[in-house]
Amino acid sequence: MKVALSDYLSERMAQDNEAGRILRLQYSYDVRETKVRDDEMDDPTHDETHSPVRGIVHRYADRLLLLPLYVCSVYCRFCFRRAVVGRSGILKQDELDKALAYIAGRTEVREVILSGGDPLILAPRQLAYILDALDKMTHIEIIRIHSRLPVSDPMRLEDALLDVLSKLSKALYVVIHINHSCELEDERAQEACARLLKSGCVLLGQSVLLRDVNDNEKALEQLWRAMVRHRIKPYYLHHLDRARGTSHFRVSVARGRALMNSLRHLSGLLRPDYVIETPNGAGKIPLTNSWAHEIAKGCYHLRSSIAGQDFFYFDEFSNSSKSDFKKF
Ligand SMILES: *Cc1c(COP(=O)(O)O)cnc(C)c1O
Ligand code: SF4
Repeated sequence: MKVALSDYLSERMAQDNEAGRILRLQYSYDVRETKVRDDEMDDPTHDETHSPVRGIVHRYADRLLLLPLYVCSVYCRFCFRRAVVGRSGILKQDELDKALAYIAGRTEVREVILSGGDPLILAPRQLAYILDALDKMTHIEIIRIHSRLPVSDPMRLEDALLDVLSKLSKALYVVIHINHSCELEDERAQEACARLLKSGCVLLGQSVLLRDVNDNEKALEQLWRAMVRHRIKPYYLHHLDRARGTSHFRVSVARGRALMNSLRHLSGLLRPDYVIETPNGAGKIPLTNSWAHEIAKGCYHLRSSIAGQDFFYFDEFSNSSKSDFKKF
């Protein structure tokens, strides 16, 4: 996987403190990435099988992903799309138009999620082209953008880009990927979030549970508190997907559940849903007791929201293999 860094992050990662250490863990190449386990996959969320046209992932009836580019300003070493991100570039104009035509033709879709890659690194003109098209579709009610930019390269959120966002007539949600409170410590990141808010969008936060980065109570509580202080509602805490060469970041489901349980006393404003993306493409499943039932030690029966897509998930990665991911 490509290595890329913004000047902003290079500067912060060079710091000889806890923030520098946490950022280096997330963005610096680590030789352990070359160790690929046999339960790891190129496409751990099964995007490919739910992609009717290039740039679209349509898994749920009422919402879909539009991936206009596979480029980010930085590359997180645990990225679940690491097999394509940094490699496949930007959708060509005719591909983009086909993707938009697909959305226009699916009137059951109410929400479009721009993801990638990082959609906010598109040129303002390119982003405007997409957002204007979506804004004009009468069946679309919500537009969502998934981005890491406010904490990875905050100075890129310039006026021209924010103008594009503020012109939308539909509800715009920006979900920011943040894994540690130190990512929000810097004034430039805080300012980027404030500017996004000023442009009229609602801010949500999503995080990945990562070994040595945030897999303890204190780190998670501080992360969520920092988000809420900066008007970002924690939305999802993702269980790490099994992308190739990411095993050194893994935390067990048992550990993740124990952490969520011990933080149950926190305000509801602080607590996200802890979710797992199943490797069969059944979508996100909350890892709380009612949806993820532990039937044997380290073995979970996951109840999908999609009929017939239940799943067995094995926590014990030490001796699991691809054949363990049997469909229920
Ligand atoms: C994650 C995802 C969504 C969004 O799911 P929410 O639970 O609404 O956040 C939508 N479509 C696809 C294909 C996804 O992977
Ligand atoms: S910002 Fe998201 S898409 Fe980009 S490298 Fe990080 S996890 Fe992957």
